[in-house]
Amino acid sequence: MTQIKLILLGAPGSGKGTQAKFITEKYNIPQISTGDLLRNAVKDQTEVGKKAKVFMDEGKLVPDKLVLELLEARLAEPDCEAGFILDGYPRNIAQATDLERITEIDLVINIEVDFNLLVERITGRRTCKTCGAIYHIIYSPPKRKALCNNCSGELYQRDDDTEETVKKRLKTYETQTKPLIEYFLKKGKLRTLVSDSTIDMMRLKVESLLKETFY
Ligand code: AMP
Repeated sequence: MTQIKLILLGAPGSGKGTQAKFITEKYNIPQISTGDLLRNAVKDQTEVGKKAKVFMDEGKLVPDKLVLELLEARLAEPDCEAGFILDGYPRNIAQATDLERITEIDLVINIEVDFNLLVERITGRRTCKTCGAIYHIIYSPPKRKALCNNCSGELYQRDDDTEETVKKRLKTYETQTKPLIEYFLKKGKLRTLVSDSTIDMMRLKVESLLKETFY
């Protein structure tokens, strides 16, 4: 069986999570979001979660060692044997080298979005508490107010999706994560897709890139 090991790279609000969910359904490989792993650790009040929360509330990156611990445990689970989509990892060069020590990567999809759109996209984002589906109050509203279309779960706004924290997160992206574009480009693994239209158009672009690369 072909393994598909993907990284989705892009600023907060670039639509990585939304596209990752489509890829998961189509190729049957898990989406591994370090943001979700961390939010679960915070919710469960684990030792990692308690330490991570301070950084997350500030819009800063959680220390590499803590994130790596969560990621390694997740990659060791059996559903990752056919591959995975990393969403939100790596976030800096040190994490990229950590990752390359534990696994290989086939392709990095860099999703590029106009900077001005990002704040609007993130502050309007709502997430399902139960299944993690993502909505936007204007661009992709749920059919019933504040309820998930898939599972009727309650929709909520992430603590760090407020305007003030979003601006800090975007700055963190610019200084720490953006250098990864050059890093993976040099390795011949990076493809950039410009997200200038609808979620469905973007989905088609991602699908055709995956077809071209893996089949
Ligand atoms: P995300 O859901 O990917 O937007 O991540 C939300 C927050 O979790 C980020 O602002 C960071 O504080 C933290 N986080 C997520 N992934 C990482 C990572 N790979 N390294 C460090 N911090 C992370």
